[in-house]
Amino acid sequence: MSKLQLSVVAPCYNEEAVLEEFSGRMSRACAAVTDQYEIVLVDDGSSDSTWSIIEKLSDSDPHIVGVQMFRNHGQQLAVTAGLSLTRGERVLLIDADLQDPPELLPAMVKVLDQGSDVVYGKRIERAGESPIKLFTSSLFYRLLNRLSSVPIPQDTGDFRLMSRHVVDILNQMPEQHRFIRGMISWIGGRQTAFPYARDARFAGTTKYSLRKLASLAIDALTSFSTKPLRIAVWLGLLSSAFAFAILAFALTQWVRGHSVPGWASSVVSTSFFAGTQLFVMGVFGEYLGRLVQEVRRRPLFMIGQIRRQETKADISGDIQSLQKVVENYPAPSKRTSRKGAR
Ligand code: UDP
Ligand code: MG
Repeated sequence: MSKLQLSVVAPCYNEEAVLEEFSGRMSRACAAVTDQYEIVLVDDGSSDSTWSIIEKLSDSDPHIVGVQMFRNHGQQLAVTAGLSLTRGERVLLIDADLQDPPELLPAMVKVLDQGSDVVYGKRIERAGESPIKLFTSSLFYRLLNRLSSVPIPQDTGDFRLMSRHVVDILNQMPEQHRFIRGMISWIGGRQTAFPYARDARFAGTTKYSLRKLASLAIDALTSFSTKPLRIAVWLGLLSSAFAFAILAFALTQWVRGHSVPGWASSVVSTSFFAGTQLFVMGVFGEYLGRLVQEVRRRPLFMIGQIRRQETKADISGDIQSLQKVVENYPAPSKRTSRKGAR
């Protein structure tokens, strides 16, 4: 039995409208590279028929591994779970909504095999995104790169092909708040950009609410930089200096015999300082909260079920039989839906 050459991980959250199309196109792209591949479809606690479609796909196609998360964990953790189950020599991360064209895989494999550790998709064009999203995203990456000591390439998503070595390292990184594209940049090695035009979603709508997006952005900033803490200190110093300036002004006026007509200025300065203090405390709080969560060491994710076909090989390594394996983790009768999941 030859080694598994290729694994694909695709997170799916309420993606019933795209899954069949995705698995068809992805399978054809994989088959163009090797027949030793697996496609790991991770259902991130969907409330639509995503899981039953995955069950059907994995029952009819031995290449497809179905993983059901116990509840919605958010894309980054769904991907983490999927990665931990992959066995291939090369691993592709791709969204299930067909924004990243599966057909690029063979070309990416070529680049990887020429001696790269990571081949990351770099969007030169983005169809179907609002100007506001494009603007905030570009602003965010500029800020992130200013603050972070790890260069994180702009205009990239999680669409990338990695060597087994990189995936093994990634699987060992224990952090709860994960910004996977940044973590992969941090690993380093030889990382090559692969320019591509990103399509519009095949069907359905974005699964990222503004809140989820903001929380991913804060995760990224806090896990790749502690500079906001330093900035908070400078901000505190600056506002104290401002307070002293006001004090000096008030005293000189008093010495000159002018009473300081005070109401408006005191209200303004009080609220200015109160605001600065709360902001600075908020920044500290963000880091402290994350520290508490890391220290708890809870499991990163919970899996409900895995469906895969195991191959059984004889002594000479020839594949003898395919056997359906369903690993079940007893689920409570009513799944708790947790809104706070990232
Ligand atoms: N996704 C997920 N869990 C979530 C949110 C999203 O697994 O809680 C998946 C989603 O199914 C898709 C990918 O993450 O395959 C990217 O999400 P989406 O396309 O909605 O984000 P966008 O491309 O709009 O930023
Ligand atoms: Mg998308």
